[in-house]
Amino acid sequence: MTIKHAIETNSQRHQEMIGWRHWLHQHPELSFKEELTSDYIASVLESHGIEMHRGLAVTGIVATVQGTKTGDSIGLRADMDALPIQELNEFKHKSTHDGKMHACGHDGHSTMLLGAAVYLSQHNDFAGTVHFIFQPAEEGGAGGEVMVKEGLFEKFPCSAVYGMHNWPGLPTGKFAIHDTNVMAAVETINITITGKGGHAAMPDQIIDPILSGAQIITALQSVVSRNISPVQSAVISITIAEAGFTHNVIPNTMQLTGTLRYFQPEIGKQVKERMQILVKNTCKAMGATGKLGFEEGYPATINTPKHAKKCAAAARQLVPEDDVLRDMPPSMGAEDFSFLLSACEGAYIWIGNGETPDNQTASNCMLHNTQYDFNDDISALGASYWVQLVRSIL
Ligand SMILES: [Zn+2]
Ligand SMILES: [Zn+2]
Repeated sequence: MTIKHAIETNSQRHQEMIGWRHWLHQHPELSFKEELTSDYIASVLESHGIEMHRGLAVTGIVATVQGTKTGDSIGLRADMDALPIQELNEFKHKSTHDGKMHACGHDGHSTMLLGAAVYLSQHNDFAGTVHFIFQPAEEGGAGGEVMVKEGLFEKFPCSAVYGMHNWPGLPTGKFAIHDTNVMAAVETINITITGKGGHAAMPDQIIDPILSGAQIITALQSVVSRNISPVQSAVISITIAEAGFTHNVIPNTMQLTGTLRYFQPEIGKQVKERMQILVKNTCKAMGATGKLGFEEGYPATINTPKHAKKCAAAARQLVPEDDVLRDMPPSMGAEDFSFLLSACEGAYIWIGNGETPDNQTASNCMLHNTQYDFNDDISALGASYWVQLVRSIL
């Protein structure tokens, strides 16, 4: 079977896309500050006569391409922001912005969506409308939520919305598509333990908050292993333990910080209730007091099965059936595409960025690594996937 890709690897179009990607990589900008990035994307769209709306969520862009016939409207989304990481790569297209880096491949995501927008504006033989959503602030700024709150789907109604993230470790030429759970919900855990500080050589006269803290850290690990069904998922990680200031004084307080991850809201509720009981009662048993609070981050990214099937069918038009993985485990990482999926049906897929060998090389690092780089070899396939998805739906 001959597989027809809208944008062939190593074609002139692909080379042009690599040029865009390298420019974006050299000019990384943080959440809601994607000004040069937004201007650059807008200039490419404008040079191809593509209609666009700017300013949703500060730097967001929604470009629209109409098909030759009327029909449904769908949204395709890419994220644009970079991370506050000092890049350690030495290649020509390395970051020129000190302390900022495209370490999650959002430069590649914007490039693939831009490639698809340009191609479809020139080949609009489909029935309906495509909104190309260039979203700011995925890395902790909840740009997706801001776009939705500022009326993304009222201004640009979509019957479904689709997203795509590169996935290091998944070989190039492969896609992973989940029917439901893709990425977890995230909440920050804040625990304050209050005891009564004093001389470290007279422990009988004080209440040691560090002893309570140590027991809480251990006890919390029983929640997922002993209160949650083994077939469900949740993670509790304590990542900061802060207390004390010198060797011979027991401090008054201890602060524990961490992260909680889960998919189903009822699992999150169950875990949090159990954590409250453990923190309160462990402290009580030690004579201390404990306060536990949570800060909500991103909700879980959960696909609608019927849209996941459409994504898989489109991917299978481009790569052999075995290269469209339908059973890869979801990630406990989080993603703010979840806010778009909470407002509109759709699906979010992974495209292989390449293997991750033990001796990590620049092109094979995991996301958020100082030596990560988006793999330019996959951008033609990614853009072709977007085109194929539009063609198969509209
Ligand atoms: Zn990231
Ligand atoms: Zn990312």
